[in-house]
Amino acid sequence: MKKILQDLSLAEIETLVVEKGEKKFRGKQLFEGLTQGKAITEITSLSKDFKAKLLEEYEDRPVTIKETFYSSDGTEKYLFELADGNLVEGVLMKYKYGYTQCISTQVGCRMGCKFCASTLNGLIRNMTAGEILSQILVVNALHKKDIEGQVTNARAVTNVVMMGSGEPLDNYDETVRFLRLVTAAEGICISARNISLSTCGIVPKMYKFAEEGIPLNMTVSLHATDDCMRERTMPIAKAYKIGEILKACEYYFQKTGRRYYFEYTLIEGENCDEEHAEALIRLLKGKPCHVNLIRLNEVKERSLKATGDKEAYRFLGRLEKGGISATLRRQIGADIGGACGQLRASYLQGEKQ
Ligand code: SAH
Repeated sequence: MKKILQDLSLAEIETLVVEKGEKKFRGKQLFEGLTQGKAITEITSLSKDFKAKLLEEYEDRPVTIKETFYSSDGTEKYLFELADGNLVEGVLMKYKYGYTQCISTQVGCRMGCKFCASTLNGLIRNMTAGEILSQILVVNALHKKDIEGQVTNARAVTNVVMMGSGEPLDNYDETVRFLRLVTAAEGICISARNISLSTCGIVPKMYKFAEEGIPLNMTVSLHATDDCMRERTMPIAKAYKIGEILKACEYYFQKTGRRYYFEYTLIEGENCDEEHAEALIRLLKGKPCHVNLIRLNEVKERSLKATGDKEAYRFLGRLEKGGISATLRRQIGADIGGACGQLRASYLQGEKQ
């Protein structure tokens, strides 16, 4: 695979163009073009020879949109193709305050959570920072006209959630590099406050991340109220206990001042009875955190079942009464199918047939 231009910061691009015998300001032109989601050939300010030289060594389109699925509620789901033909997926959710994009950090995943389709075929490979970033760049370019007439540095995508395929903290270095690129003032400059990093709870990496000085929304996939129960659906629970996760979250809060988040996917007969609500209240009461309840998106290869709407609201009501800040995530894009990895999984199956 060729090296990827979007992996580079502005300073690194400037060094590169100077090494290639161009003036430093050409670096800024190149970086700005890439940030706007352009391919090298579309950056008209650069000479043809220079562009050809770069393309011998570098990939300028690390991510392309292979297919788009449109929901009646405005949500869009993308199947992204990487330069080596691998596929990952992403979702764009449109809210009043802006667009939130869900992005992937790995091709596949090796965490093995029982409810998740991304992990069905294991981990294929890590994505590079530039590949992670480019998912946003291509979607911004696609929605350029949605922000016409707004301030010049406006971006269609204002919020990012790292909840697509992969475990961000299992691809630690590229995830951190991506976060530095996406928050950089000279780049698309999305504030860390508008970014959620979702992890299954790799505790040592959570501590390490707390030292990076990136105050984002740290989100842990909890899905259970005790370790034994968590081990049933999440293999990582054998390595790190809920108590350790809570301490790591507390440390992140101390370091950044940011409250932390838990995701709790409601699985029928598993984790959403009254006793579980009570246990969750005992576990989290008084902590600076927020709980996002998620309806399970049933994966056909797995037998786990979603909770009904009534039960989901009852669970939410219990938490709120118990003094826990919580929301039930609105189900959006239901008609375009699938959670986490289902689109890619069904695509790969289709290809095999
Ligand atoms: N690896 C990270 C991020 C990717 S998954 C993590 O574990 O957090 C993003 C969120 O979607 C996680 O909370 C995950 O547990 C949840 N999820 C995965 N499959 C799901 C499904 N079928 N239905 C509902 N939520 C799911």
